[in-house]
Amino acid sequence: MKKIFQFFLALTMLLTSAFMTAQNIMVREKRVEESVLKVRSDSIKSTISNLVSKHTRHNLSTKSNSLQGIGAAAQLILQKLDTYAKGSAHMSVQKYEYRAGGEKTRLGKEITLSNIVANLKGSSESCDRVIILLAHYDSRSFDNSDSTAFAPGANDNGSGVAALMEIARILSTQPLPVTIKLMFLSGEEHGLLGAAHMASIAREEGWNISAVINNDMIGNSRSSGTELSSNMILRVFSESIPFAETPEMKRIREFNSAENDSESRQLARYIKEISERYVDNLKISLIYRNDRFGRGGDHTPFNRLGFSSVRLCEYYENYDRTHQIPGIRDGKEYGDLISGVDIEYVKKNTQANLATIMNLALAPAKPSKVTIDISALSSSTIISWDQPKDGQKPYGYYILIRETDKSMWEKKFFVKGTSTEIPYSKDNHFFAVQSVNENGNESLATFAVGGSVR
Ligand SMILES: [Zn+2]
Repeated sequence: MKKIFQFFLALTMLLTSAFMTAQNIMVREKRVEESVLKVRSDSIKSTISNLVSKHTRHNLSTKSNSLQGIGAAAQLILQKLDTYAKGSAHMSVQKYEYRAGGEKTRLGKEITLSNIVANLKGSSESCDRVIILLAHYDSRSFDNSDSTAFAPGANDNGSGVAALMEIARILSTQPLPVTIKLMFLSGEEHGLLGAAHMASIAREEGWNISAVINNDMIGNSRSSGTELSSNMILRVFSESIPFAETPEMKRIREFNSAENDSESRQLARYIKEISERYVDNLKISLIYRNDRFGRGGDHTPFNRLGFSSVRLCEYYENYDRTHQIPGIRDGKEYGDLISGVDIEYVKKNTQANLATIMNLALAPAKPSKVTIDISALSSSTIISWDQPKDGQKPYGYYILIRETDKSMWEKKFFVKGTSTEIPYSKDNHFFAVQSVNENGNESLATFAVGGSVR
């Protein structure tokens, strides 16, 4: 173990002592790397085509037909997860039914909808952290009140469901220290109803959530109109100023100029760093907004309740396909059919999810009370922090540094102990600290705030 870490450390020092922009040295941890290679495009494709075969997954569609409608889709997801759970000592599957809608709502009447959650229980007894992936399985056609029209939803959001299903398959055979919950949600197309239901349960039951990652539309790689295309770039949307900011949080943010350092933004940076470490030919684009104009996603109800939550979404969208009536018109194919889904792209985006949650689950918890000493004027900076209370004890810590106008952390120094002095000005840089174990699995970053606010 120590040897592996020393090798990792030597490479990290090499990296930090050189110009960061010149080159990146990728050191992949074996367990994460091997799991990422298990993601298969054929099983992704089969999940999407099985979902499309249900004709529609509209929230008001039938629940009594075993071949068509949202009831049949829920059954398909449950059955598939059950087969993985049967062979697994740590996986269980739970259905959460909830009442939604009413006369004056987008649904027009009150109905019962179902969320399905695959629970992969963490093996560590001293740690109750939870990592959550989301994907909605409902679909819609052009007219959102039409519950019988063909609404294949291959990309929106068969792609997200297929990613989570593939992760369930791979993680059902290997327990991680931290609990992973894979949530297959309904009600998204009528107002994020399923996500709101799960977020409120999480808050009521006091879940210790590290991260929520929503996968919604991760399979289209060609834009309509401009015809730009790439399956090498994926967007991560993250809130800037937290939706759930309290007056006290606002005071700390303003004092520290931390409007670009919400916990959701730290999660987005983490996804970029880890995905680009483990997934070949994939770049993560950080989008500094919660979602696209006038369009939301299932991560948002979690943001509103104060959880770190982000959305993964394809870089190029195709408006001829999303929410359109399928068919050929003027020689152009319309509708959200599987022919519009780039399966290799979904595969890479699934790998990005898997690498991120595995690295996070294998890492120690993040440090707390990360504080910059601002009591004296100095060209150096003294940073101190508390070791995480639960779970594995960190082998050491990474000090992250970036200039104030940079998007990503630029330098990463390894230190032992819980304080350090570094010759970088606190006025010219931002700092954060990550916990790291002997294998190089690092936690999320805790942003460093000036000491006088404590
Ligand atoms: Zn969607």
